[in-house]
Amino acid sequence: AKFVYFFGNGEADGRADMKNLLGGKGANLAEMTSIGLPVPPGFTITTEVCTEFYKNNSAYPAGLNDEVAANLKRVEQLMGRTFGDAVNPLLVSVRSGARASMPGMMDTVLNLGLNDTTVQGIIAQSGDERFAYDAYRRFVQMYSDVVMGMDKEALEHLLEQKKEEKGVHLDTDLTAADWKDLVAKFKARIREVLGQEFPEDPQEQLWGAIGAVFGSWMNQRAITYRKLNNIPADWGTAVNVQSMVFGNMGDDCATGVAFTRDPSTGDNYFYGEYLVNAQGEDVVAGIRTPQPINLHQKKEGDLPAMEEVLPECYQQLAGIRQILEKHYKDMQDIEFTIEKGKLYMLQTRNGKRTACAAIKIAVDMVKEGLIDEKAAILRVQPSQLDQLLHPSLDPKAPKKIIAKGLPASPGAAAGTAVFTADEAELLARNGQKVILVRIETSPEDIHGMHAAQGILTARGGMTSHAAVVARGMGKCCVAGCGDLKVDYASQSFTARHGVVIKKGDLITLDGSTGEVIMGEVATVPPQLTGDFATLMEWVDKYRKLKVRTNADTPNDSKVAREFGAEGIGLCRTEHMFFEADRIMAVREMILAEDLEGREKALAKILPMQKGDFIGIFREMKGLPVTIRLLDPPLHEFLPTEDKDIEALTKTLNVTTQQLKHKVEFLHEFNPMLGHRGCRLGLTYPEIYDMQVQAIMEAACELVKNEGFSIVPEIMIPLIATVSELKELKANAVAVCEEVMASYGVKLEYLIGTMIELPRAALTADEIATEAEFFSFGTNDLTQTTFGLSRDDAGKFLPFYVETNLLPEDPFVTLDQNGVGKLVKMACELGRSTRPEIKLGICGEHGGDPASVIFCHKVGLDYVSCSPFRVPIARLAAAHAVL
Ligand code: PEP
Ligand code: MG
Repeated sequence: AKFVYFFGNGEADGRADMKNLLGGKGANLAEMTSIGLPVPPGFTITTEVCTEFYKNNSAYPAGLNDEVAANLKRVEQLMGRTFGDAVNPLLVSVRSGARASMPGMMDTVLNLGLNDTTVQGIIAQSGDERFAYDAYRRFVQMYSDVVMGMDKEALEHLLEQKKEEKGVHLDTDLTAADWKDLVAKFKARIREVLGQEFPEDPQEQLWGAIGAVFGSWMNQRAITYRKLNNIPADWGTAVNVQSMVFGNMGDDCATGVAFTRDPSTGDNYFYGEYLVNAQGEDVVAGIRTPQPINLHQKKEGDLPAMEEVLPECYQQLAGIRQILEKHYKDMQDIEFTIEKGKLYMLQTRNGKRTACAAIKIAVDMVKEGLIDEKAAILRVQPSQLDQLLHPSLDPKAPKKIIAKGLPASPGAAAGTAVFTADEAELLARNGQKVILVRIETSPEDIHGMHAAQGILTARGGMTSHAAVVARGMGKCCVAGCGDLKVDYASQSFTARHGVVIKKGDLITLDGSTGEVIMGEVATVPPQLTGDFATLMEWVDKYRKLKVRTNADTPNDSKVAREFGAEGIGLCRTEHMFFEADRIMAVREMILAEDLEGREKALAKILPMQKGDFIGIFREMKGLPVTIRLLDPPLHEFLPTEDKDIEALTKTLNVTTQQLKHKVEFLHEFNPMLGHRGCRLGLTYPEIYDMQVQAIMEAACELVKNEGFSIVPEIMIPLIATVSELKELKANAVAVCEEVMASYGVKLEYLIGTMIELPRAALTADEIATEAEFFSFGTNDLTQTTFGLSRDDAGKFLPFYVETNLLPEDPFVTLDQNGVGKLVKMACELGRSTRPEIKLGICGEHGGDPASVIFCHKVGLDYVSCSPFRVPIARLAAAHAVL
């Protein structure tokens, strides 16, 4: 196998579609080189070498040495410089590059090849002794940190000491002699702490750095990041070795990062930041405040734009922006460096963007003829939509703005302020909403950012670590908030007008405006018009799977219709029983000693249920509505606290003893497997009769008086055997016929069942002889297939997921191998006896993108999910087809 891929001077061994082998960075460096963009020459060591390295106890495959040497020679020839040469030395960067971007997770070494001899060559080449020694000391700092495991702070401390000694504040005030002296001091300190010499031999340096990059694949932050982003450990990273170009050789030098369109709004203009006379990570690190790339983007108070300062390079870069978008047909995130007026491209990749930007860019690119509708649909991840479907700050709500930063990732978030990632994680685990406040974030903070509702930083730009990572996570973020003085020691920050926010105080962030607000602010529902509507129109054109909603009230139904629901897949009637004005009648029914007493109480509930159904049918305007008959065990409707029991005895006119006796009688050891679902309907047929009557009367009234066309779908829960369904169906049919006769109308109706017990799935062919539709209740089906209690799983399921005993929480994403197999089997069995049977899913999985795709594959007719997830399911259903 070939281990090393060369790129340089218009020729490259690799291509953009070789990301698996070359990593994202390497593949795109090769691609940019081939299409004639100015890329400093270099080579990529493949991800396969990384995988081999870990398989073989950290040993490289035979032949790698020779390939690296040969490719280094080619770079030397192109650059006219020699690695390790005293007169004209070549310096290189060594960087990681995985298949999927893992920003800041792994290690980088710049200026490699410097030693006491080659530094003389750099002085001669650049004519700038100060620059040369500055580069040298940066190299010693990075290399000793990344490769040798030296404590960064120890060298930082020496640097601070130096500045103090010289009475200066800025690095830029130090002279060549100062840097030279620091290089010596750094090396001495490294020797002292590590008992090891800093390597002078460039070859030793090179292999040290290559080893460190491969090693960083298994560091803790990288492992955490992979887990959060579902990146397999066996993908490995590539290593990119590339000749150095310098953005810090004077005022005709610069370095920057940019997006070909605005990554937070999607607006079509060049968006980026750069710094004059700066090297490598300075922009992203957020230490100096970067300047805008173009005038359109420039705001009051900003430093001059690149368009003004370096107009020629800007024009060239703007041209490259067009070339890249035409070539990749997607928004790009680029890095560049200008060395003495000459522009070099160091990276391009598809840019991370907010959901809002993803939609705008996809729709715009169709209009611009760059991509087609199908590609546009695939550009937006279903899970990303979540960000848009949630409320934003109510513009009319009063708010006390205490600071303003950059609108780094939109949405609104409120929570209590915390100042460390660990604290954020801890409190979030206990169910608290927190805002993580940091001076700036680093890859070590990932777990805390993940746990927080929102992220607030005092330093850094739109491309800072916090901004990029938050956008990727779809989290609200306000970055670079210069108004803040964060004090970690006292766990507090001072904002405008001296307002102090301490740990535990409530704050709200508006990631769309950059505002930081005291307290918690009211929110408003999302806007679903414009580009969002356009994209969803395309989505509906391509998908086959219908999307319904789980809704129990007319209001939920209305919201779901606005989100595009095509019916109700699950109306849980028990929620209606809990309402204040009817719970008493329900309790009266439960406490009744005989049928007569129960019927009397049920008669009070009937008109209320009927009213609910009328409201829901009206709202759904003839779309299908599946109503499930009562499911939970009766004890759930009775009070448990002594004082509530006492109060109830008074209203219901029973003795405390009678009531306590009833509560005890209804107590169940395992209520999820107890007296619930169809078992209630069988033992108390009058309950289901009342509900069926309410459904049919509601439908008949609307059909008769208001000209509706309604096909009610009556759903019976927790069926295990066909005999249960047979009996309940007969009861229901009798009630339906009676109601229709009394109204003098004839309407179609369906009686079906949930498939939520393994036995039902296993005997679905028998059950389908009675059932006119199946709706998979995958919540209970997951619970009963795993033998895992839904309500108790929180105590141990997170452990299962953390330790990879389960790839994912099976209550969130359908377990396709186990529970999914039952679903698939039940579909096939059901269709074998009733080919036209309607099939749907109404468990929580109906709104989970991966599960929706599975549902499409097994041939369900629809999925049903909570109103806010309807657009997510629609998009996932389209992805399933494309
Ligand atoms: C299910 O079990 O999947 C279901 C939808 O019913 P519930 O969640 O009400 O038990
Ligand atoms: Mg259920």
